[in-house]
Formats: sequence, structure tokens, C-alpha cells
Amino acid sequence: MSIKSGALDIAAVYELSQSEEAISKMRVAEMLESITGVGKIRALAIMERLNISPTRRIKGLGSHQLKNLLSEFSASAVRSKRGKLIVLSGPGGVGKSTVAAQLRATGDYWVSISATTRVPRINEVNGKDYFFIDDVEFEKRISASHFLEWAQFAGAKYGTPREGVERALLEGHNVLLEIEIEGAKQVKSHMPEAVLVFLSPPSWEDLVSRLEGRGTDTPERRTERLALAQQELAAAPSFDLVIVNTSVKEVVDQLVSLVSA
Ligand code: 5GP
Repeated sequence: MSIKSGALDIAAVYELSQSEEAISKMRVAEMLESITGVGKIRALAIMERLNISPTRRIKGLGSHQLKNLLSEFSASAVRSKRGKLIVLSGPGGVGKSTVAAQLRATGDYWVSISATTRVPRINEVNGKDYFFIDDVEFEKRISASHFLEWAQFAGAKYGTPREGVERALLEGHNVLLEIEIEGAKQVKSHMPEAVLVFLSPPSWEDLVSRLEGRGTDTPERRTERLALAQQELAAAPSFDLVIVNTSVKEVVDQLVSLVSA
């Protein structure tokens, strides 16, 4: 494992340690040593100062210990300007995740990874596409105010971990949340500075053919998603900006210019 950007990656590894057996067993010392520029000695010194036992496992970090650790590694990276928060929403199947993946690759955005109770699809990786957790764990995290927003969608729960988003903004990164409409509205009510972008299909027929061509959903699930998509399209006027997804490249360019303006 290699950790390059400090606090943001620590937050992600901690998140992963709650559900991934292999990572839950990893020690804090090992994680710190893998951060660029931190050797064995500095890792131990930091842990001693923050009152973290040398044998502590990542999963067992207390909330204070985690907070202190994140501050330690973000302090040096703090930039003077807070990043911008862009929320990309729109009907399921419109192509939000393709846009989000390409935006992540541009380096202009830090893209949040959500937690979900949905079963992983083939090719989806825990900690990369989503943090896949069960319902009990999701409820626990709701009670602990772990989510910036959360919503139910097509029978599963989805939520944005708050900590990573706040930290990324503080460090000057532009943040992208790729979420459904109810969640987008919640974000706007907590953080009015967020820019809500609605990604719209070129036509209804286009959206139907995208959903039917997906092949990862059962027919029942697809029918459900189409009905939902119809409701979702009606929400476009309440967004700050509507972008029609005629070409992924154009959408990506528009979203990049939105934060570089
Ligand atoms: P899928 O199951 O196809 O990956 O996602 C279903 C829907 O959930 C999509 O519209 C996606 O944007 C949305 N979604 C993904 N993560 C989150 C999240 O953290 N919060 C909310 N509210 N919606 C999310």
C-alpha cells in the first residue's frame, strides 16, 4: 500500500478498515510508514505524541485519535483557498459515474467515495467504487452523524462520508459528489455554497436505451429505475446548472471550467 496525500488517504484507509478484513488487521504504524516522507521513527514519534499505542490497529482507532491523526497530516498540506464543492446529480443511467471517473483522472477534482448497502456489481471494488457495508453498519453511521447526506435509492442506502469531503475542501481541493437528487438537495441545505449540477440525457429515449443496455440490472430493477428516472428528470429546474450529456468529454470540460473560473 502506498499513501501519498496524507490525511485524505488516511481517512479512506480508516473507512475501508471498518469493512475489509485484511485492512482491519493492519496496524496504524504500518499505515503511517507507508506515507511518503514518513519513516519508522517519525511514525512512532507521531503515535507517541498523539497517544496511540504502537500496536494499535487502524480499525481500533478512537474518534479523537483519528481526528488528531488527520489534523497532523493535513496541517502541512493546508492551502490558503478552500476548494469548491460540486454536486453532480441526475437520473440513474445518465452517465454520472463515467463523468466522475474521468473528472477524477483530470486531477482537478477530489471525488468522494460513498458508502452503500447495495450489493457490489461485477468489477466493483470495495473502497474504490463504494464502501460496501451492511444495513446495521449504515444505521450506526447515520446515528454517529458520519454522513454529510444520505438517501434511499432503488432499495439500497447511499451516503457521503462527511469527514473526507470537509477535509478535502479545507485543503483546497475541488470536491465532486456524484449522488442522486434527494442527497443533492440535502447537501445544498447544509452547504449553500455547493453548486448543484444536473446531468440530463439528450432525450428520454436515450436514457431508456442506456438503462436497457446496462445489462447489470435485473428486468424488475430496470423497470423500477425507469420509473424513478422519470421522477428524477422533473427535479432539473431546482438545480443551479443543467448540462446535457451529449458527449462525456464536453461535460468533463464544462465541469473543469466551472472550478477553474
Ligand atoms: P448505483 O447503484 O447505480 O451505483 O447508484 C444509484 C444512485 O445512487 C445513483 O444515482 C448515484 O448517483 C447515487 N448515489 C451514489 N452514491 C450516493 C451517495 O453517497 N448519496 C446519495 N444520495 N446518492 C448516491
